[in-house]
Amino acid sequence: MIIDGKSMAEKIISEVEEQISKIKKEYNKYPCLSIIQVGNNEASEIYIKNKISACKRAGVISEVYKFNSETDENEVIDCIEQTNQNTKINAILLQLPLPEKFNRRKIMEKILPEKDVDAFTYSNGAKIFAGDYDILPCTPSGIIHILKEINLKLEGSKCVVIGRSEIVGKPLALALLKENATITICHSKTTKIKDICKKADVLISAVGRPNLITHEMVKKNAVVIDVGISRYNNKICGDVDFERVSEKASHITPVPGGVGPLTVAFLIKNTFTLFKNQYFV
Ligand code: NAD
Repeated sequence: MIIDGKSMAEKIISEVEEQISKIKKEYNKYPCLSIIQVGNNEASEIYIKNKISACKRAGVISEVYKFNSETDENEVIDCIEQTNQNTKINAILLQLPLPEKFNRRKIMEKILPEKDVDAFTYSNGAKIFAGDYDILPCTPSGIIHILKEINLKLEGSKCVVIGRSEIVGKPLALALLKENATITICHSKTTKIKDICKKADVLISAVGRPNLITHEMVKKNAVVIDVGISRYNNKICGDVDFERVSEKASHITPVPGGVGPLTVAFLIKNTFTLFKNQYFV
């Protein structure tokens, strides 16, 4: 079965829209997301356009602060600090990747944890580590949502996560652990990766390397979640050899149209959660 990430995402966005419109009527308040972009990364331009469009559909106000790659780091930090103080802004997204000369961690840590929509700050990371959190980074949230929507019993299942980034692999592994799955994390230095993958009930690849996951690496009837996004032969594709793996998997996400739309939907949902926390908790 090919997982329809687009319609799952639209459902989430319309549910949030309904709740936002009720709050708007009753309290005349609405969530506001601030997106900070540095440089002209081509993929980021497209992602930001999609994010703004989803905000519009949900009734979230969005604003983009765009800096060129020559900007001084302190200007970006100033912008974050002003946004932190602006009570009308509930959520802040620092669009990644930043140009190389910028210290991502230093800038990220300036975001107030209660406005950190991606839960990337150290203090939000600690909550995820402890398994006690309101929000998870958007992509892992989307993946957990998919696995629940297809009624997969995560408890006791063997999950293999390929990729150990702070954005996807690590928080995802912790979230799966919270669901009582058994986790193996693989990365660029893992040996015998094929043997590890073959044992997975759920195989999640977040690398960014086309055709990394071949059909020989997948157990029959496994669930395969493809997070990777790359350009190959002028087409957008994931990490998985979709054609052959889809013959073996019980469920598989396509690229595009799988995890990507859910990442955007959870940006909206996380923004709404932060907004509610700021006004109503
Ligand atoms: P990253 O570059 O930070 O991490 C990549 C990970 O892959 C690293 O942990 C590395 O150890 C591992 N890796 C590299 N080569 C490997 C190999 N040959 N075998 C096994 N592991 C290997 O990237 P990221 O930010 O985590 O993103 C990963 C991919 O997911 C990218 O393609 C990115 O565009 C995509 N992505 C998609 C979404 C979405 O919404 N669909 C969101 C975030 C990232």
